[in-house]
Amino acid sequence: MTLAGSGAPAPGARGARVPVRADLVDVEPYGAPQLAPPVRLNVNETPWPPPPAFLAALTQRLGELELHRYPDREATHLRAALGARNGLPPERVWAANGSNEVLVQLFQAYGGAGRAVLLARPGYSAHPLLARVAATGVVEVDLDGELRLGPQAVAAAVAEHDPALVCLASPNNPTGIPVAEETVRAAHDAGRGLIVVDEAYVEFGAPSVVGLLDELPRLVVVRTFSKAFRLAGIRLGYLLGQDWVVADLRRVRLPYHLDALTQAAGSVACELADAVTAHIPHIVAERDRVAAALGARGHTVWPSAANFLLFRVPGLAGAELFAALLARGVLVRDFSTRPRLAGCLRVTIGSAQENDAFLDALDASVQAVKEPAT
Ligand SMILES: *Cc1c(COP(=O)(O)O)cnc(C)c1O
Repeated sequence: MTLAGSGAPAPGARGARVPVRADLVDVEPYGAPQLAPPVRLNVNETPWPPPPAFLAALTQRLGELELHRYPDREATHLRAALGARNGLPPERVWAANGSNEVLVQLFQAYGGAGRAVLLARPGYSAHPLLARVAATGVVEVDLDGELRLGPQAVAAAVAEHDPALVCLASPNNPTGIPVAEETVRAAHDAGRGLIVVDEAYVEFGAPSVVGLLDELPRLVVVRTFSKAFRLAGIRLGYLLGQDWVVADLRRVRLPYHLDALTQAAGSVACELADAVTAHIPHIVAERDRVAAALGARGHTVWPSAANFLLFRVPGLAGAELFAALLARGVLVRDFSTRPRLAGCLRVTIGSAQENDAFLDALDASVQAVKEPAT
């Protein structure tokens, strides 16, 4: 189809703007509101910066870079370091600007016109966005009443849609609930597409499916440095899978897609991984403390294996509660308009002080919303 066939002005009648691609007209830009109240618990970041030892090593490494040269196109050192951590050779490891870029490259390589990806609903909101930008159709399978995805449901959806990809976050976001191994096996065995398991939060204690890579030949695992590695400020994610997947991703990646500074930061983070991730036990303990505190107040909270909790205050509207919390300086994420998540908000686990501030603000908000001041 030409531009003329898309409702754009005819040649000669020059318009003041070019119409965006018809399949993007109803796409909303990604993003939670970027506000800066005192307590920000809305995008699952780590509350503490990386340790001084990391910054010192990175500073030294940056001094050794040749920034007048293009970066290593193959990110050789970084991929070897990531592979070594996961028992895989570099040919089975890929890295890009955030796991989001890995995902969009997967959609570009295996999706595209006439092909679809199967996603969980509700799931990670960037998945359908990235798929649509890569012109890949989206089909969805609903979570059950407990917000889980069973093997039968996913197998039936795969059989029905024959998707080129199945993409599942485990633990899922915003529920925090891991996808069972049987569900991943069922998705793989019911179809012929690529099974992508997005393990963005796996370091907080969820089981990984990396051990299934040799058994399920069309499985890949995607990970990120944005969450447990507390490096959301650099954009770095990676994939573990078969060498043919890595070879296909090299077809779609932009020339020199991963800059030298990011490669250096990732390599240093691998070398100092124990120090960079030393805070994880604190987050896990705090998560369990906050979950217990929410439960003790009679709120509904789902069991999370990630660094956030999905919760609901029975009888209260999510948007109202979100606004009341924000008015008290605490920013969380409102999921209450998503299917099956009526009334639900998601709170990132922060420092103990931030979590206490959240719980105090929640108590005050619940009271204010239930008994508005006259
Ligand atoms: C936060 C998150 C990511 C991270 O994406 P990056 O591009 O690596 O920052 C990926 N997947 C899920 C499910 C997430 O929640």
